[in-house]
Amino acid sequence: MNLAEPPNTLHVTEIFYTLQGEGTWAGTPAVFIRLAGCNLACAFCDTDYALRSLESIANIVARVDQLGGACPMVVLTGGEPLAQSATTALVDALRADGRRVHIESNGTIFTELPADVWLCVSPKERVDARIARRADEVKLIVDRRVPEEHLDLFTEQSTIFLQPEGNKPSNVALAVDYARAHPTRFRLSLQTHKFIGIP
Ligand code: SF4
Repeated sequence: MNLAEPPNTLHVTEIFYTLQGEGTWAGTPAVFIRLAGCNLACAFCDTDYALRSLESIANIVARVDQLGGACPMVVLTGGEPLAQSATTALVDALRADGRRVHIESNGTIFTELPADVWLCVSPKERVDARIARRADEVKLIVDRRVPEEHLDLFTEQSTIFLQPEGNKPSNVALAVDYARAHPTRFRLSLQTHKFIGIP
């Protein structure tokens, strides 16, 4: 997909109000903005990040207000949310609107972010070391193996989440065994929203 876009507009897949299902903030109400497009093509990817609309930043902020009301938490996800040039302007607009912005990234595109932005990095085939250092949260996807090759980049973080791909029982068992074998550094993260049928 060509991600070139007019200034102050973004390619959007969907915007919805739900609960964060994964990681540190699991169970917390949040408005999700799924930005279209990704710079990777992971074999296990089951995320629909197709382009549905081209939206101005003002329209996106207004939609967040409409859906989430006073909800403080907004999650930018994808696809890869840092792949679009206007994403940082959207972050600033949401912060100016009083939101706490979270970003879920594959960690490949280095971007300067304000200190109050919560950055979750889920490494795939490669990671930018500067993004790895900046990450507030790390989520390793366990898909038949724990991707240990990324661990040396995440020495700043005391905890790393292991998230079984697709909640598959074999991946869950692998993640549980690994966490029990390394009890001071790893925690299990399940996609709890999928258990209860919310997006
Ligand atoms: S980085 Fe994430 S969204 Fe992009 S292809 Fe991989 S799994 Fe899918």
